Amino acid sequence: KLSRRLTNVASFLSPGSLFADIGSDHAYLPCYICLQDNEARAIAGEINEGPYLSACKTVESYQLTNVVDVRLGDGLEVLNKNEVTEIVIAGMGGSLIKSILDDGRDKLLNVKRIIVQPNIEEQNVRSWLLSNGFKLTNEIILEENNHIYEIIVGDKADEINSSKSTLEEKQLFFGPLLMSNPNPVFYKKWRSEHSKRAATLEQIKKANTLHKEKIRQFEMELDWIEEVLQ
Ligand code: SAM
Repeated sequence: KLSRRLTNVASFLSPGSLFADIGSDHAYLPCYICLQDNEARAIAGEINEGPYLSACKTVESYQLTNVVDVRLGDGLEVLNKNEVTEIVIAGMGGSLIKSILDDGRDKLLNVKRIIVQPNIEEQNVRSWLLSNGFKLTNEIILEENNHIYEIIVGDKADEINSSKSTLEEKQLFFGPLLMSNPNPVFYKKWRSEHSKRAATLEQIKKANTLHKEKIRQFEMELDWIEEVLQ
């Protein structure tokens, strides 16, 4: 059974999708989709041999080798130009997701939708999407097994109508859609992030080293969090 996290990620793929799952690990997500959608075709990309072999095994065990293509390689380099229209990158840090997208920009010309599930540093992915012609069309936050996950969907913006989005840093931090419609998990996450940051700030200050920039950043984030928790 696919995790609730990945089921939610999968829910954003179009019917009959031609997609890539980058950092696919066991290839659970592409197999789940292709088992229930006869039209769907997937490429599962993996940089590491171990997970790559696990992915091959899963695909073979479900007899999906003709619809899920497992490829070994770094990020979007496993893709040919114009091969997919949707991309999933889940379960990694936001900075890594951002660099995978950035390094693979030439593979994105035909890509209409990018679905990401960053574990941390979500703001990096949001700002990358917005500065690379995608608009944020969906964001969800959910809790599973004591972890809180965010899923972010970016859709290719219509070039003619797209006025460059001007989101504030604070909106990128919380997610513009999540913060305008906060649910209990959102509040839970930010209460916990507030205590983590407060503790870290305390430590940095005690250490009495010169981390002025870092201290300012933490203080700003703590103010933001207090505002949304009010
Ligand atoms: N996407 C799956 C999920 O959400 O459950 C697996 C997440 S797993 C924590 C991250 C996977 O990404 C690992 O299997 C790792 O080998 C792979 N990975 C890390 N960097 C990568 C890169 N640059 N290109 C492709 N795969 C990468």
